[in-house]
Amino acid sequence: MAEIVVTGGGVAGLSASMLLAEAGHDVTLLERDAAEPPAPAEAWEAWERRGVNQFRLLHFFMPRFRIALEQELPQVAKALEAAGALRFSLIGEVPVAVTGGERPGDDDFTSLTARRPVLESVMGIAAASTAGVTVRRGVAVAGLVTGAQAIRGVPHITGVRTAAGEEIPADLVVDATGRRSALPDWLESAGARRPVEELEDSGFVYYGRHFRSADGTTPVALGPGLQAYGSVSTLTLPADNGTWGIGVIASAADKALRGLRDVDQWTAVVRSLPLAAHWLDGEPIEDRVVTMSKIEDRHRSFTVDGAPVATGVVAVADSWACTNPSLGRGASIGMMHCQALRDLLRTTGVDDPAAFTAAWAQATESVVEPWYRATLSFDRHRLGEIDAEIRGVPYRPEGDDWDIVKSIFFAAGQDPDCLRAALSIQTLLGRPEEVFADAAVFEKALTLGAGWRDAPSFGPSRSDLLSIVAA
Ligand SMILES: Cc1cc2nc3c(=O)[nH]c(=O)nc-3n(C[C@H](O)[C@H](O)[C@H](O)COP(=O)(O)OP(=O)(O)OC[C@H]3O[C@@H](n4cnc5c(N)ncnc54)[C@H](O)[C@@H]3O)c2cc1C
Repeated sequence: MAEIVVTGGGVAGLSASMLLAEAGHDVTLLERDAAEPPAPAEAWEAWERRGVNQFRLLHFFMPRFRIALEQELPQVAKALEAAGALRFSLIGEVPVAVTGGERPGDDDFTSLTARRPVLESVMGIAAASTAGVTVRRGVAVAGLVTGAQAIRGVPHITGVRTAAGEEIPADLVVDATGRRSALPDWLESAGARRPVEELEDSGFVYYGRHFRSADGTTPVALGPGLQAYGSVSTLTLPADNGTWGIGVIASAADKALRGLRDVDQWTAVVRSLPLAAHWLDGEPIEDRVVTMSKIEDRHRSFTVDGAPVATGVVAVADSWACTNPSLGRGASIGMMHCQALRDLLRTTGVDDPAAFTAAWAQATESVVEPWYRATLSFDRHRLGEIDAEIRGVPYRPEGDDWDIVKSIFFAAGQDPDCLRAALSIQTLLGRPEEVFADAAVFEKALTLGAGWRDAPSFGPSRSDLLSIVAA
C-alpha cells in the first residue's frame, strides 16, 4: 500500500482521500484554507473558503455522484441525508403524460443534493474521521520534491514542499487543487516539461442567489433545471433544508449584461421568465448577487510527445480538466476520476512509476476524457448560439452534433424513451454514444426533436432583455 499525499481538500480531494484510504493506502490531505469544516447546519453562514471561488455559487450534485457515494462511501451519503440534503428525482416532477408512468431504473435519476458548503462540510467531517486519512488544513503546497528518475530525463516526484518549507514525502502525489491549480508551475520548477494546456478563449459568467422557503419545501420545477433563453441560460436548482439556488448564466463577452450583478436587475430578469419566476418566491439568504466570471473550459495533457512530463504525480478532477459548470457535471466527473485512480492502484502499483503513469493516462482517456469532450462541445455550441443571438443571426454550426443534442432534449418533452435517454446523458449515467447506440431511440429523437428550432421561447427577446437589465 502506498503513502499518498493529496493536495487540495475540495470535493475531489476529499473524495480521493476517502476512496484511497478505504482501499488501504495511507493518505495525507493538505488543504490551504485553515478553517475546519463547521457542523453542516452552520456551514452556509460560518464557513469561509477563500480557496474555492465557486463555494457560494449554485451546485447541483447529479445522480451519478449520489450513486457513487451510496456504493463507495455510504457513511457520507447517510450523513448528507442527516444534514438535510435533498433526495430529488429528476423524473419525479415530469407529468405522467410524458414519463409514460414509472419504469424500472427510474430511481437512478434521483440525486442527493445540497448547497456546496453543506455538502463539503459533511465530506470534510467524514474524511477527518476516516481511518487512514490525515487531514491537515492551513497547509499550502508550494512545490514538488524530486528523487531518482524512473524514466531517464523525466522528473520523478517523491513528495511536496509546503509554503512553510516542510517537505512531505509520498509514493504518489494526487493534485486536486482545482480549476486554478498551479501544478504546471510546480512541474516546471521541478525540471519537468509543462503539461499541454487547452484553454478556450471565452467562457461564461454566473450570477446566482440562494433562497429558503418558510415550510422546508422547494419550488415545483416547471421545466429542466437548466434552460436556455437566447443569450442567457437559467439554473433553478433545489438544495438542502428547503433552500434552492437561481442562476443566470451569460457569456463572459456579453458586457451589456453586466448589470445582472445588481439585485434589482437580476430579479427583474428572472421575473421575466415564466418557467423560473416562481423560484423567486422565498426568502433570499444572500443580500447580493454572487458572481463568478472567467469560467472557461480548460484541459491538461500530461503526456507530451509520447512521454509523461513527470512520474509520481497525477492530477484529478478540475486540476486535470474543468468545464462550464452549468451542466452540473464537475463533482461527478471528479468522483469518476478518483474512482478510476483507486481502481488503477489496485491493479498497477506505484512501484513501477513508468507503467503506472502510462496506465493512468489511459484510464483518464477512457473514463473521463469523453465526458470532458462532450461538455466542451456543448459549451462551444452554447457560446456560439449566444454569440449568434447577440448578433441577431441564426446559429448554424457545421456538422450535426448540436442538432442531435438539441433534438434529444426537445424530444424528451414528448416521449418517455427520449426523456430517459436525455436524462441518462444529463445525469452522466450514459454517454451520448452509448445512449444513441439504441437505434430506435436515436431515430425517435431525431424525428420528434426535429422541430426544436421552431419551439416557442418563454423568455424575453434580446432587446427586451437589454431593456430590463438597463432599467
Ligand atoms: C460556478 C460553478 C458552479 C458549479 N456548479 C456545479 C454543480 O452544480 N455540480 C457539480 O457537480 N459541479 C459544479 N461545479 C464544479 C465543482 O465545483 C468542481 O468540479 C468540484 O468541486 C471538484 O473540484 P475540485 O475538488 O477539483 O476543486 P475545488 O473544489 O476548486 O477544490 C480545490 C481545493 O484545493 C485547495 N488548494 C488550492 N491550491 C492549494 C495549494 N497550493 N495547497 C493546498 N490546497 C490548495 C483549495 O483551497 C480548494 O479547497 C461548479 C463549478 C463552478 C465554478
